[in-house]
Amino acid sequence: MAASGKVAAFRLPPLPTVKEIIKLFNLRAQKQLSQNFLLDLRLTDKIARQAGKLKDAHVCEVGPGPGGITRSILNADVAQLLLVEKDTRFIPGLQMLSEAAPGKVHIVHGDILTYKMERAFPKHLQKKWEDDPPNVHIIGNLPFSVSTPLIIRWLENVSNRDGPFVYGRTQMTLTFQKEVAERLTATTGSKQRSRLSIMAQYLCTVQNRFTIPGRAFVPKPEVDVSVVHFTPLVQPKIQQPFKLVEKVVKSVFQFRRKYCWRGVEILFPEAERLEKSEQMLMLADVDPTLRPAQLSILHFKNLCNAYRKMCDEDTSLFSYNYREELKQKKRTRKKGHLEQSARED
Ligand code: SAM
Repeated sequence: MAASGKVAAFRLPPLPTVKEIIKLFNLRAQKQLSQNFLLDLRLTDKIARQAGKLKDAHVCEVGPGPGGITRSILNADVAQLLLVEKDTRFIPGLQMLSEAAPGKVHIVHGDILTYKMERAFPKHLQKKWEDDPPNVHIIGNLPFSVSTPLIIRWLENVSNRDGPFVYGRTQMTLTFQKEVAERLTATTGSKQRSRLSIMAQYLCTVQNRFTIPGRAFVPKPEVDVSVVHFTPLVQPKIQQPFKLVEKVVKSVFQFRRKYCWRGVEILFPEAERLEKSEQMLMLADVDPTLRPAQLSILHFKNLCNAYRKMCDEDTSLFSYNYREELKQKKRTRKKGHLEQSARED
């Protein structure tokens, strides 16, 4: 059966198992690189199925490693599979898979954090943003240290419709540490609600599909892993530049246990903090005594719109940085102390 559940037109020929490949090429997982492999092909099939129908699709798999998920993607009868793998040790094993699926696989030995996906697939695959998603998918089980910065980068790409999203609303199926997946999909008022929840959900439909227990991986990580599916929204729920939304959301969640006015305040220089934060909350019609986790995406939309209006009126406001002001104050205080002790000496 194909990954879609239908009879496949393509099936990989008999190959050594993933376990045998690991042995053959001496691919011991490097703990410092957080390498944990999936050897159970039923599980890798299940991950590939989460991407939807992959027949004739153009797929980028990030971090294929010894190639478990890679086999499932190929068995789903894709048209093209691009593999981006950083660790050179995996390349020979992936080449073996490439030979078993002639003309379909392209291997890139590189870092997904710098790889330019906008040129990876043929131009004719491009769809209008408002159309259904293109037949282009990103699938990957990456180390957690890479997957979180990467999703933030890709969300910014969604907002700008560049990078992997020059093809349209490219769908992503990615693994995260279970707790991170819970944050990505957390609803208003839930304990896991965080910066990631807002950043992901204002741009995408985000679904936490299923959780894989840590024991399914070799070697076993300390944590469980969840598979999350992202489809960019036709209309983002907040229509402001990504960096502006990121700044507002980050500031509000800076004091996650306090009332939300506390985080709003730090968007403004100390001298005008009280007045401006009151003005912003009034403009946005947000109750200052709500906690960050209680704010809906609509609240954030109103906060971002209000902040944008204030930035348009005061063009120096957006570049204001709370941490910089704190550091500057500390430096000034330290300098004052030094000058005073020099005078006393
Ligand atoms: N996908 C395989 C699996 O499920 O068995 C391997 C998973 S392992 C957790 C992560 C893989 O991502 C490793 O092969 C590692 O070398 C690769 N990797 C780590 N950082 C990467 C990066 N920045 N760009 C591309 N690949 C990366």
